[in-house]
Amino acid sequence: RSRSRSKSSAQKSDKEAAGEQKVASTRGAPRVQAPEDLPVLAYRENIIDMLVENRIIVVVGETGSGKTTQIPQYLLDSERFQCLFENKRGLRVAITQPRRVAAVAMARRVSDERGTRLGDVVGYCIRFEDKSGASTRLRYMTDGCLLRECLGDPNLANYDVVILDEAHERSLHTDVLFALMKRAVKSRNGQLRMLVTSATLDTGAFSEYFDCPVLEVPGRSFTVDLHYHPVSKTQRVEAAVNVALNLHVREGPGHILVFLTGMEECEQAVNLANTKLQNMVESGKEVSDCLIVPLYGMMQSDDQRNVFEEVPEGCRKLVFSTNIAETSLTVAGVGFVVDCGYCKQKFFNPTTGMESLQVTEVSQVQAKQRAGRAGRTQHGKCFRLYSEETFHRSLLKITVPEILRSNLASVSLQMKAMGIEDVVNFDFMEPPDRVRLVKSLRLLFLIGALDADGKLTSLGERISQLPLEPQYGRVLLSAVDLGCVSEALTLVSMLSSEGIWFRPSRQNADQWEEAQATQERFVHRLGDHLTLIRVYNMWEEEGCSPEWCKANFLHFRALRQARDIRGQLYEQLEKVSEASVRKAVQKRERDDRDRRRDRDRGSSIGAEEALLQSLCSGFYMQSARACGAAGGWLIVGENVLVKCESSSAMDGSSAEWVLYTDLVGSTVANCMMRTVSAMDHKWLQPLLPKLGEVDMKRLVGLAKVSKQAPEAEVKKGAEEVAKDRAEKVGGA
Ligand code: ADP
Ligand code: MG
Repeated sequence: RSRSRSKSSAQKSDKEAAGEQKVASTRGAPRVQAPEDLPVLAYRENIIDMLVENRIIVVVGETGSGKTTQIPQYLLDSERFQCLFENKRGLRVAITQPRRVAAVAMARRVSDERGTRLGDVVGYCIRFEDKSGASTRLRYMTDGCLLRECLGDPNLANYDVVILDEAHERSLHTDVLFALMKRAVKSRNGQLRMLVTSATLDTGAFSEYFDCPVLEVPGRSFTVDLHYHPVSKTQRVEAAVNVALNLHVREGPGHILVFLTGMEECEQAVNLANTKLQNMVESGKEVSDCLIVPLYGMMQSDDQRNVFEEVPEGCRKLVFSTNIAETSLTVAGVGFVVDCGYCKQKFFNPTTGMESLQVTEVSQVQAKQRAGRAGRTQHGKCFRLYSEETFHRSLLKITVPEILRSNLASVSLQMKAMGIEDVVNFDFMEPPDRVRLVKSLRLLFLIGALDADGKLTSLGERISQLPLEPQYGRVLLSAVDLGCVSEALTLVSMLSSEGIWFRPSRQNADQWEEAQATQERFVHRLGDHLTLIRVYNMWEEEGCSPEWCKANFLHFRALRQARDIRGQLYEQLEKVSEASVRKAVQKRERDDRDRRRDRDRGSSIGAEEALLQSLCSGFYMQSARACGAAGGWLIVGENVLVKCESSSAMDGSSAEWVLYTDLVGSTVANCMMRTVSAMDHKWLQPLLPKLGEVDMKRLVGLAKVSKQAPEAEVKKGAEEVAKDRAEKVGGA
């Protein structure tokens, strides 16, 4: 087949193949042009050829080369590719992204390029938000969402092609999908194709695991000058703002991209930069226009648009971003990068069994990716807020894959729900530590999702259907029984949105104190969980007002997001719960209205107690008892002494029993409880004995391990955990 022929056939079939002939002109937004010189364009036919001949392929190309936005469209527009598939419903492609912001932004971009309405031919699906329908052909989704779809349909019969994008990120869900997809591709017998894309070259592990060919798309980028400008860790936000504003004042064209660690830092930097810029203007300095915007994972879909919108000639964009802009999202026209050298990563602490988000040094690979963002369209500059020596001596060469450092309870539960019995010996590309897998099974047993033999219980099945960490799913289901489902929905939604508290910088002493005093008024004496519920209820009472948030030093976006999540969760809970959630919630809302008339704020005492009690059902293994002498609390069954973070409502409390849902800190010595409530021992008492009932060997199914499983290793994993536990319980 000659090259030109296949090209023209692809072009001719463009619209027919996608079935959108009329759509483009009548219903959609105006088309935007994809950049014409994207590196993947030259490989269009190669990619199709390879995917016709192979069930699985890997495509490597650097960030910005067009993998995410273009490749799915090439497939959709190629008639000869679509001929492969027996079904005549039209090609359906799922494209996964490790981050929700990326899934939304990419769907929006591709939809714009095709001139269609978002949610029509091109749509997206992220947790708590599905914007796609029966006519959707390209479905951008988070890897977590696709994993969830595997629950109901392990062969993914809804799709003809699955693109696992951003594979170099090695997110937990993508790693699990590797294995599930490998099975699905095999069983679909050629009717499911898979494409794995990566921005980095070390694809040996992928091609070996999948036994598939790799296509390399060479990039073209400009050189980036590196400047090292070490600052202390605590001053990174202020330093980053200063460096960025300096660049703005001194340098020629090119947007500025600043990497910080999280939403709070980004918002703080935006405020600080605005203030400083305004001061410059007021003191008579000539400063050209500058649009200052944040970019982070938990942003609402609408707020993200600013970041990508074009600015007028002569105006510079200054973007404060988390590591999301490292590879998933491309802000066009960046000429300068400021890299603080840190990012937030999930870490699982095997001693406490808890996962926490920690500010960690980036890896060398990440630092290089960050710098590379400055050289896409021009000769760029990158300012690293650490020394060259730190780069070489301290930063890890590559990022540790998430599966090797995160909590596996949710993944293990989903695998069990898919009928994968032997989680410990599952065919992972890079198997996590057995001890941690065994621990995840233990947790699932403790919340009643698995029975003593590691079999999924009916409760476990219902928990697995909720898009939440299993412990929170357990809380919601027990809240239904205890009559506090409305409160529990509020709580879980508040905890699922990122940080409602606005904390001004300490340098601004007046504002800082005012914020402290204002926020103190929300504090519930029984702890952070009821405090969160109280804030939410008051906000709703105030008509969900943004002004009220501002006056009370609360992040409006976070609250609005909690409200959206609450609505979604409510529906999902109604589906899986046996009792009627709707009736319960409606009754509660009626009661609330009545009470409000009596000017009584917050929830009734009964509901508050019930809420704390339902928290116990999911988190009793995270309760702790006051240890008078040391002035802290000892976690049950562990020999670990913890205190409260100063931001917690329980800081300085003398409660005998507390329970935390959130722990921060990296070592046993510096662990702190973040979200904490006081507990009544009588709620915990019936649950605690289960901690002593765990029989690890039964739980991992050691009684009937299959022949090919390396039995000794499983045994070793189980024994280590059992020993570990025995020591701790003995010690405590
Ligand atoms: P890759 O997946 O290889 O990193 P993408 O497909 O995401 O590349 O992006 C290809 C190009 O499309 C980018 O270099 C950028 O120029 C352009 N682009 C992508 N998203 C947007 C957007 N939201 N707005 C404007 N341009 C965009
Ligand atoms: Mg991409």
